[in-house]
Amino acid sequence: MNSQPKLHILFTSEEIEAKVKTLAGEIRRDYQDKHPLLIGVLKGSFMFMADLIRLLDFPLEVEFIRLSSYGSGRESSGKVRVVQGLRSLIKGRDILVIEDIVDTGRTTGFLLDYLRKKMPASVKLCALTDKPSRRQTPVTIDYLGFTLPNKFIVGYGLDWDEKFRYLPDIRVIEEEG
Ligand code: 5GP
Ligand code: MG
Repeated sequence: MNSQPKLHILFTSEEIEAKVKTLAGEIRRDYQDKHPLLIGVLKGSFMFMADLIRLLDFPLEVEFIRLSSYGSGRESSGKVRVVQGLRSLIKGRDILVIEDIVDTGRTTGFLLDYLRKKMPASVKLCALTDKPSRRQTPVTIDYLGFTLPNKFIVGYGLDWDEKFRYLPDIRVIEEEG
């Protein structure tokens, strides 16, 4: 069956902009003298990362990592691996991971463990969205944007089968039955 998804706006682009500004303020306060390495988790975090970083007017470096956890479905496989790794040295650095969403926590939990083994000075997590009701692996989010209900969201970098990443707002996807 080829059902058409229905989308409802959950957070408007203005709400997202305000939230990103708030997060940038908190991050500036904590990192302005630390020359941190910000690691964006591809692909979902690219839009958030771009908006956040241009509000951080202090020395920092940018990296990206790509992990696989989701296939084409909506459920995390539970098995996470690094698809595209880091070129920057992690040892001794202050690391801030930038995530689009923490759902079961498996992907982020794996990544934080992976980074901690590389002996950074510190590792913290900034996540635009959080679905705490879905958590399987405990994850501490140091800088959080929005708490979500147990719904599948798209837009602002987040996809459904590679679709809808371009949307400037965050929408809830619901399939018509
Ligand atoms: P976790 O390992 O925490 O279950 O899942 C993490 C990844 O699953 C996220 O980085 C994201 O790619 C995907 N994901 C989880 N929930 C959603 C959602 O509601 N919408 C979208 N587009 N992706 C999601
Ligand atoms: Mg992600």
